[in-house]
Amino acid sequence: MKIIRFFSYGIAAILVLYLGTIFIVPPIVDRKYNTSTLLPPYNVSTQAQEIYQTLPFIADLHCDALLWQRNLLQKHDYGHIDIPRMLAANMALQAFTIVSKTPKNMNFDHNTGDTDNITTLYIAEGRPVKSWFSLKERALVQCRALYGFAEESAGQFRVVTSARELGKLINDRQQNPQLTAGFLGVEGMQVLEGELDNVEVMYQAGIRMMAPVHFFDNKLGGSAHGVSKGGLTDFGRKVIQRMEEKHMLVDLAHASPQLIDDILAIATRPLIVSHTGVKGTCNNVRNLSDAHLRRIAAGGGLVGIALFEPAVCGTDARATARAIRYAADLIGVDHVALGSDFDGAIAMHFDVTGLPLLVEALLAEGFNPEEIKKIMGGNIRDFLLLNLPKS
Ligand SMILES: [Zn+2]
Repeated sequence: MKIIRFFSYGIAAILVLYLGTIFIVPPIVDRKYNTSTLLPPYNVSTQAQEIYQTLPFIADLHCDALLWQRNLLQKHDYGHIDIPRMLAANMALQAFTIVSKTPKNMNFDHNTGDTDNITTLYIAEGRPVKSWFSLKERALVQCRALYGFAEESAGQFRVVTSARELGKLINDRQQNPQLTAGFLGVEGMQVLEGELDNVEVMYQAGIRMMAPVHFFDNKLGGSAHGVSKGGLTDFGRKVIQRMEEKHMLVDLAHASPQLIDDILAIATRPLIVSHTGVKGTCNNVRNLSDAHLRRIAAGGGLVGIALFEPAVCGTDARATARAIRYAADLIGVDHVALGSDFDGAIAMHFDVTGLPLLVEALLAEGFNPEEIKKIMGGNIRDFLLLNLPKS
């Protein structure tokens, strides 16, 4: 009996400890990794603020907010984005992109898929046990979380999955500016767990954009930060074809140059690069060459420029605006957008409410208000209206 009592106390103690962990640890980790160079309130010129106020559709191609178990219905004083801050920033649409696995000691040059930080994070966040050891389940859990926020948002937030729903969002926002939306993406198709049919599972879960790789090589092909720097595999080719059939968007962020070449060679639909920089202003392995920028644009593609130092070689809006200027001069302003990487475990220039600072920097780069409208979201709106599934 004593032994049984001893074990019961032991299990109870472990449970209490675990419950404590899932309430205390996630916000600490979130706050530690998702920092900003500048904190609000932001000091913006009157001219930039006035132009910002007139932007009809502000949108962004990449954020990892779903990774952190943050209640996105509440306003936070850490991290970069949540629904109240999206509303304060007059955001129309944010891509919520799912991270499922990241290597330990992650770096830009050489990572294997042998280790994983996210298992520990998921356990510490108290995620469903089923998702602790399944990358597919990890993705589905994050999809469900975003839909959950939509359900509980009292009509302030919705998930968009088609051109028809996007059209409705645009209409509804004219009556109700206190309305914002998200669409779902995946960063690294290891979430397919090697099964082609899981493309359908991801589609059914609401996902409309997927990047083949993240920080390590997987069954589809090589990462810019992986070991092989290889191209598209047979499996990868089949996945891209299946995605195109379903009008899911292929995202080339983090792909190795060879993988980008191979996808460009077979793609029949426009491609996205959800969060990147350009080698022309910041020459490193994660950024796009001029040749790739030209080919992506020639196919009708869209390139999201990020808001963090390693992508733009600077810690402020000017660095992002310089990259946007470079890309716009090379491929035309219609192919350039914002791809912040908010909440991507990285120091941002600022949180989502600091976006007027980007308008100020774009003005300083010589963009006119019509061009700024396109860069700040008009191009994303038009691209998605054209390329998402119709309904
Ligand atoms: Zn990324």
